[in-house]
Amino acid sequence: MSLVVQKYGGTSVGDASRIRDVAARVAARRKSGDDVVVIVSAMGDTTDDLLRLSAEVSPNEHPREMDMLLTAGERVAMALLAMAIQDLGVEAVSFTGSQAGILTDTTHGGAKIQDIRPFRVREALDAGQVVIVAGFQGVSPDTKEVTTLGRGGSDATAAAMAAALGGDVCEIYTDVDGVFTADPRVVESARRIDEISFDEMLELAAAGARVLMPRAVEFGKRFGVPIYVASSFNDGPGTWVKEKTMEQAIVRGIAHDSAATKITVHGVPDRPGVAAALFEPLAVEGVSVDMIVQNVSQSGITDISFTVPREHADVARTVAEAMASEVGALGVDVTSKIARLSIVGSGMRTEPGVAATMFRELADEGVNIDMISTSSIRVSCVIDESDVDRAMQCLHRAFGLDGDANGE
Ligand code: ASP
Ligand code: MG
Repeated sequence: MSLVVQKYGGTSVGDASRIRDVAARVAARRKSGDDVVVIVSAMGDTTDDLLRLSAEVSPNEHPREMDMLLTAGERVAMALLAMAIQDLGVEAVSFTGSQAGILTDTTHGGAKIQDIRPFRVREALDAGQVVIVAGFQGVSPDTKEVTTLGRGGSDATAAAMAAALGGDVCEIYTDVDGVFTADPRVVESARRIDEISFDEMLELAAAGARVLMPRAVEFGKRFGVPIYVASSFNDGPGTWVKEKTMEQAIVRGIAHDSAATKITVHGVPDRPGVAAALFEPLAVEGVSVDMIVQNVSQSGITDISFTVPREHADVARTVAEAMASEVGALGVDVTSKIARLSIVGSGMRTEPGVAATMFRELADEGVNIDMISTSSIRVSCVIDESDVDRAMQCLHRAFGLDGDANGE
């Protein structure tokens, strides 16, 4: 008998019949003898609909009330799922994040989980009940207010709850079959990956793969809880995300992110303190900077380029322009017609020449590289947005991912 934490995403509980389908899966699992905790997202597009509704009602910011509003979405789903499970003759009870003991910091709209005290969850499990917990929400013990964890936060709830309960596995059920070698909408020959390490998954998620929230992977890694990603619409195999994989891959997968903006400050005086003068205020504004490239174009003068998520572009531009005039730089350039392409694989650590292969392939494909960054298991290139599909397809082929991703 295991303790299983399952998470069902918004599409999986999108309407009444899908909720009953999920209930049947959960009930079957419980009847097989496992203890089951289920984390649910809000049904379908509920969260987006609530956001739109609030914008119609008020143009102003209401962080506290916004969290009261958005947490209602998950609350609807959890209650309906508990009813459907009970109808199958299996005892079930639903809890809000707060009732489940999910304690967060005080930040509305993007709270961090600080601790989980799942007393009521444990009691209900001990009583033989299936426990449904509303995803994406908690409560701040400091302010006593309800908080949300940020978009897609139910994955984090699931992994954190699995860690807190000492669960054997955290299963994330979604509308795709697992983690793929590349986005199948771009690369037709993309394949489901059988096993991927936490580190590879973190890199892929940060590089734009959207199937799992990076914060969930971090919880899994930190507390040693394996994560299984699979479809809620079929019983086919999914992807295991865990500490160590059987096979090491030189390139496990390719990800792309077209939602980045590149900002260049031209003609910056080349002296100590200019980078700090730019990146300190960006940090204060909460802008997350991804790639940074600085190159000396003529003596005494340098260009600094960096990329930010597109939603931070306006703030970043304002900061860059203020910095440029403060230090006497020549000007600021902003472009969003870029994409970041990344190859990820832990075998890169020991295999020389992987980056060189990537650059050669892109060159032969006629794709110009604008910026490059690497980690020990990732190589990323910024390229023109219009080249992304071609570049992805060519790299997928070049690194042998077109064959069977699982090496069978
Ligand atoms: N319902 C929330 C969202 O759409 C949380 C989640 O689905 O994980 O972002
Ligand atoms: Mg959702």
